[in-house]
Amino acid sequence: MAKKNEILESVLDEFKKLAAIPRQSGHEQAVSDFLKKYLTDAGFAVQQDEVNNIIADAPATPGFEKAPLTIIQGHMDMVCVAEEGRAFDPQRDAIKLVRDEKYLKAEGTSLGADDGIGVAEGIYVLKNAKEHGPLRLIVTVDEERGMTGAINLDEKYLKEASFLINCDSENWDELTVGCAGSVNLDFSRQLRRVEATGSTAWNISVGGLLGGHSGERIGDGRGNAIRTLALALQALQEKGVVEIADFSGGKARNAIPDSASALVFTDVTEADIKAVLAAEAERFAKIYGAVDPSARFHMNKTEAHIKVLTAGDTKRLLTLLTTLHTGVFAMSTVIPGLVETSANLGVVEMTEEEVSIQYFPRSAVDQKLDEFRFFAKEMAELTGFTANIGTQSPGWKENKDSRLAKIMTEIFETQNGQKMKVETIHAGLECGWHFRKNPQLDMVSIGVTTADIHSPKERLELATVEPQVMLIMEALKKIAALK
Ligand SMILES: [Zn+2]
Repeated sequence: MAKKNEILESVLDEFKKLAAIPRQSGHEQAVSDFLKKYLTDAGFAVQQDEVNNIIADAPATPGFEKAPLTIIQGHMDMVCVAEEGRAFDPQRDAIKLVRDEKYLKAEGTSLGADDGIGVAEGIYVLKNAKEHGPLRLIVTVDEERGMTGAINLDEKYLKEASFLINCDSENWDELTVGCAGSVNLDFSRQLRRVEATGSTAWNISVGGLLGGHSGERIGDGRGNAIRTLALALQALQEKGVVEIADFSGGKARNAIPDSASALVFTDVTEADIKAVLAAEAERFAKIYGAVDPSARFHMNKTEAHIKVLTAGDTKRLLTLLTTLHTGVFAMSTVIPGLVETSANLGVVEMTEEEVSIQYFPRSAVDQKLDEFRFFAKEMAELTGFTANIGTQSPGWKENKDSRLAKIMTEIFETQNGQKMKVETIHAGLECGWHFRKNPQLDMVSIGVTTADIHSPKERLELATVEPQVMLIMEALKKIAALK
């Protein structure tokens, strides 16, 4: 076994090679070509499939040729974001690494430890594990945008295997053993615009909400800015005609929107608008204030000359935005405290000609997602929108008899003197697709400790790399000895 620092330094060396290659989701040709050559040169049998996934096989160490095939899996793409004002071209610029005592970070951009560090660990293990059965490293493309790498991965690569260790989680002391499925539901409508009749244009917005990941944070009871603003405009309509010229909010399907804004024309008086927004703010505070205390409405008069939606379209839009339930639908009846089914009203975008809405249900029960698809169709019909039903990602159901989970938790406790937390999560992992292709595959997901992923503050806790690599290598040893 290598000395402690040798493991960390070697894994970071592998990570540095990945950080030097721009690898934004959807632009993985260069990094995929690199991995193909690099792993071939290192002596492994490498395949690059049609979508640029990399599959690298290492033979068993002598005496363990009959052991079951184990897959180590991560994704090569990353979310590229930079600090405001920073010149950064995600398709050309390398990630500049900054290291201190405790963390590895990037200079002004996301780090790509999600999932570069998982891939780096996999490469290190392939090169350095001393006792193991047949071993396969699978590195997928495009996890972050839509999991198209995992979706397109030929099932033969999964069917030959007995075990899979996914390295795309975020806490070194957590073992993930199940995840939720999801479905992309979009609504759109072509808009016809007319001259405004209201005399005054107002920008009305709501901001300062907590927002956050729509899987991990949906159970916290946070407010949704899009719904909040739509409800406020609906309440305002009680006071008089309100014509909408613009409505937008949210940044991503899978993020709870923290702000939303609208441009409206109306003859409702300033005092009445203020009173309605104050009442809505109070209502919001009663429902969400305990966890989401900083939400604020803003209003200001503006000199806009822009056509507005017809009265019918205004009504259609507000009806849809206020009836799409956003938040938790059901808690798990199997696992206490876990959200089973939720939905997020994530994005509203409006152009001159069209309005589009992104809605994102998740569920641990695939059949509930089927119901959402039917619901979306019906809702669209009732409100005059078109429903666009996207890819449905399957969930990964926990296997209570997982041998791999038992092996991993036992080793973790021996190595670290503490228990590993075992969790099913209300979020998506590529394991859902692997599970659909090979339900017999015994899987777990692990990861070194990272924080603020998908942001310029993304950082990785250095001290968690070595114990994780030791955990993987010891698990491979135990698997090699299985009958
Ligand atoms: Zn990831």
